[in-house]
Amino acid sequence: MFIELLDLLRCINAHEETWLVTSFNSISNRFVLEGTLGCPTCSAEYRIIDGIGRFGTRPAASEVPRNPMSAREREDLATRAGAFLNVTQPGATVVLGGRWAEAAQELSVMTESRIFALNPAQHVEESESVGLLEVHRQIPLAASSVRGVAIDFSFPREILTSAIRVVRPGGRIVGPAAIEPPGDLTVIARDASYWVAEKPVEMISLRRSNPVGDTKSS
Ligand SMILES: [Zn+2]
Repeated sequence: MFIELLDLLRCINAHEETWLVTSFNSISNRFVLEGTLGCPTCSAEYRIIDGIGRFGTRPAASEVPRNPMSAREREDLATRAGAFLNVTQPGATVVLGGRWAEAAQELSVMTESRIFALNPAQHVEESESVGLLEVHRQIPLAASSVRGVAIDFSFPREILTSAIRVVRPGGRIVGPAAIEPPGDLTVIARDASYWVAEKPVEMISLRRSNPVGDTKSS
């Protein structure tokens, strides 16, 4: 895992958000190959093994061996992921899970975004802008910190709760047709395989001071 990506990771346990303290056992060109991420609040420890951050046991459904996609297939998938997740501005952080993770490098290059690839196939490689994570039902990122999350059928339904938390208001979530989208999302598109939904923008308080009667500066 590239050292700068570690700053974005958070403890997955139920307490106030905390970043993690990293100790390195093996590091190469600012990539942490082996190490431990420790939570100062609850003392949980998460290992980095072979560069992959381990935040849970990946579900069996994601263990199915997959043939690597061709370069063309990966580009098509990246284009689709970019459109579904509405990744238009450089500098966004995006989460791609399972099959979507195959497009991590391509989407990262195309959109100049940082990507966390969840439960990627073995042939998916990390880079300065692509971090690999193994997870079960929690995404170890800060609330409202990512532009979009795409997952496939290999994840348990509970991961959507975590996805809603980490996506910023107005951000997108793509889920498999096999799992119903949660009611608090606005579904904007669906086909036989996936649905695309938006996290509603939080209500903006209208209780502002009246601009006409605002005499604070006088
Ligand atoms: Zn913790």
